[in-house]
Amino acid sequence: MIIDSTTIILDGNPILRQKAEKVALPLSEEDRNTLTDMIEYVRNSHDADFCKEHNVRASVGIAAPQIAVSKQMLAISIMDEDGDIEFALVNPKIISNSTQKAYLENGESCLSVVPDREGYVPRYAKITVRAYNMLTDRMEDIRLTDYPAIVMQHEMDHLKGKLYYDHIDQKDPWKDIPGSVVI
Ligand SMILES: [Zn+2]
Repeated sequence: MIIDSTTIILDGNPILRQKAEKVALPLSEEDRNTLTDMIEYVRNSHDADFCKEHNVRASVGIAAPQIAVSKQMLAISIMDEDGDIEFALVNPKIISNSTQKAYLENGESCLSVVPDREGYVPRYAKITVRAYNMLTDRMEDIRLTDYPAIVMQHEMDHLKGKLYYDHIDQKDPWKDIPGSVVI
């Protein structure tokens, strides 16, 4: 399946507000195929021509509920000058986090939330996530900081039925969050 603008569901669809189900391991063929489609989509979306052809937005991550599959799976692909980071995770759990917060100075965006909602989205600056990673075929404890940590928390929120704007201060969206790392 090629994930495109017709496969990605939008805010207002109740699936995005459901708690996603745990996934049985080892992965069934169906779940493996879904997660493979997801990681390929995120990789492909770094390419402007692919985005144009399939009418999709560039992205760094996607969670299964966004393609109407209410299961605990997410895919992340971040390519930048610090190196490439990729995960295709099943049943991820945060097992530790910093007290310090971090946020993106331009706010977050989401394939399922159009148009963008503006404001700071406070996240943990550092997290350790335990999950099965399909790309390595292993259970892993993954330590993340700053931008990758924010992306991971955004995608994990989808598995709990949350959207990034739930964290934005409604009265004062751009209110300073003292002691935070600004990214
Ligand atoms: Zn999202």
